[in-house]
Amino acid sequence: GKTIGVLGGGQLGRMMALAGAPLGYRFMALDPVADGPCGQVSAQIVAAYSDQEAAAELAARTDVITYEFENVDAEVAALLEERSYVPQGSRLLYTTQHRLREKAALEAAGATVAPYAAITSEAELDAAVARLGTPCVLKTATGGYDGKGQFVIRDRGEVAAAYAELAESGAELVLEQFIAFECEISVIAARSSMGETSTFPPAENIHRGGILHASIVPARVPAGILAEAEQLAARIVESFDAVGLLAVEMFYGKDGKLYVNEVAPRPHNSGHYTMEACVTSQFEQHVRAICGLPLGSPELRTPVVMVNVLGEHLDGVNKLMLSPESIGTDLVHPKFHLYGKAEGKTGRKMGHINLLCGDPADALAWIDNAGIWPVENDG
Ligand code: ATP
Ligand code: MG
Ligand code: MG
Repeated sequence: GKTIGVLGGGQLGRMMALAGAPLGYRFMALDPVADGPCGQVSAQIVAAYSDQEAAAELAARTDVITYEFENVDAEVAALLEERSYVPQGSRLLYTTQHRLREKAALEAAGATVAPYAAITSEAELDAAVARLGTPCVLKTATGGYDGKGQFVIRDRGEVAAAYAELAESGAELVLEQFIAFECEISVIAARSSMGETSTFPPAENIHRGGILHASIVPARVPAGILAEAEQLAARIVESFDAVGLLAVEMFYGKDGKLYVNEVAPRPHNSGHYTMEACVTSQFEQHVRAICGLPLGSPELRTPVVMVNVLGEHLDGVNKLMLSPESIGTDLVHPKFHLYGKAEGKTGRKMGHINLLCGDPADALAWIDNAGIWPVENDG
């Protein structure tokens, strides 16, 4: 059997390895932390992501290389492409590592994005805020995740504070108009190294404090929007000439239009629902796509709500798992996925639960009744 090398040793690599094993693949992760989520279920090289010797060792000991995060060091990506088989290539990383390049590529694919402007000075920011209007959101062009590196500007008086806070990071900045949305949805698209494309059903995503809290599937939007979202994601993955998964985050605007927020060239938290709810999980689909296997069926077998378990929820979830409530009810079947992380810091993703159900309303009620997730804070 072949061995798949994974740059990164977090939960995405772990779930990739767990999904790839039944297909006959072995895994080897490269991560600085020994015995992390992926290292617990696969072989591992313990070294920094930017360590070129370690990357060369990974290339020598594996047959195919993939990654589980997008901020792969450019030199390491080039080295791996030269010494090994990296079906996803480095161009997709280059595009998605930078919000301005990403937006240009999305527009070239025919997608609509929020009106935006590149910002290199406070004067430019002030002019752009006047032009795009408030509210708007200033973001670092690189390195942001879970809403980090963002400042929502509610009126022009906040320009100086926003610029001071984000310019400090030294990263390039981008200003976006704030889209008034009905809800946020995402589509996980797959394209195989053989050129086959497939999309999973859209998830409706609820964020709290900038972090994904829950995904609801089917998303509660009109059927025409569900179809449009899948077609848009397919068009993007084809236009990008991507191989592997591409997660496409969108806003369903109050104006009835779909705006693409950002994309990620990897399995995505909002696609975890596929693990039990679809015929094929996003992780199996990713392995199939990069290994040149035919893509599996993305068909939804049951409605589902995925809820994230963050550090502050872990004690409650551990207690819940010992009680009969963890079995669920006739209406809701909880499937637990814990990542085996040692430290449960606030806001850190420690696991998730897929609540298989007949009606997402029952699963949402189950989450409220569990008493682990505070009922609504900042929405
Ligand atoms: P992720 O963890 O998804 O990579 P991130 O740090 O890259 O997050 P974004 O996805 O750009 O950040 O933004 C985080 C959240 O902030 C969005 O899911 C959305 O709720 C809100 N948001 C960001 N940009 C906009 C916008 N232009 N209009 C409306 N809401 C926005
Ligand atoms: Mg992001
Ligand atoms: Mg996002």
